[in-house]
Amino acid sequence: MPHLTCVLHHHIGQEGAFEKGLGLTSSREAFERHLAWLGERYEFVSLDQVLSGDLPKKPLLLTFDDAWHSVLGIARDVLSPRGIPAVYFINPGMVEEGAISLDSMLAYAVNTFGIGEVCKALGLPRCDAVHSVIVNDMAKLGSAERQGVVAELIAKFGPVDLDQRARLLSGDDLKELVSLGIEIGNHTKTHVHCRSLSADEMQEEIAGSKALLEELSQSRVRSLSIPYGHELDLTDEVHRHARESGHEAIFLVHARANWLRPAKDVWYRRSLTNQSNRELAMELQIKQHLRSARKAVLG
Ligand SMILES: [Zn+2]
Repeated sequence: MPHLTCVLHHHIGQEGAFEKGLGLTSSREAFERHLAWLGERYEFVSLDQVLSGDLPKKPLLLTFDDAWHSVLGIARDVLSPRGIPAVYFINPGMVEEGAISLDSMLAYAVNTFGIGEVCKALGLPRCDAVHSVIVNDMAKLGSAERQGVVAELIAKFGPVDLDQRARLLSGDDLKELVSLGIEIGNHTKTHVHCRSLSADEMQEEIAGSKALLEELSQSRVRSLSIPYGHELDLTDEVHRHARESGHEAIFLVHARANWLRPAKDVWYRRSLTNQSNRELAMELQIKQHLRSARKAVLG
């Protein structure tokens, strides 16, 4: 049975103070080079094919996360003309006018005022980089607490000029994405660490987010990508809630190969930014398999 290779891109374009340090930006040149490299070695498949299990010999699913407007440009100029399917996992809370994610606000504050100032403002004793603040300190917070941190950062380091941020999608863009052959998936309403959600927050961030995306896109949403991609955020409770709210496919990151998966409805992905072709080959053809082998042996 062929094993799915799954890659993830985020923003395709330039990065500024709101994006630097998050490790999410690919240049347009790198993205198109990745696509060409992948197209020579794999067969692009849709989520329909993945769910049916009827896959070609070397299947590859292209995915995108968050709410970057640049992905719409890629869908218009590159994917749709070539008939390449993809899934775009979107946070519907981020398509609202004036919305800003905790990650973008943290990146802006750190890039503008320095990590020391930001950690002092948040009362964090241990501090080295924006990424570690997000994956360690912020992972413990539920959605309401995260919104509190955003408000605190804006009060201390704002006002912010959102025109300086990479453009995000608007609600109207979702229908166009669907018309271009992009399937819309759920990425939680406001981009949260799912491990820390209360029951009410889980309802809003997962089931509520799916309903919002379906309304905006006028399409069925049946997949969920866990923000930050960590298996610790796919708790038994989150998994049960996701299944019960109609998510048939759940995506993590971890850059492992999919011949060893934690459950029938869960897949791993490799997140890509500006890797060289040689790095792509190492990652997708060697390192992913080593990580899965290690996981199989050590658990
Ligand atoms: Zn994300």
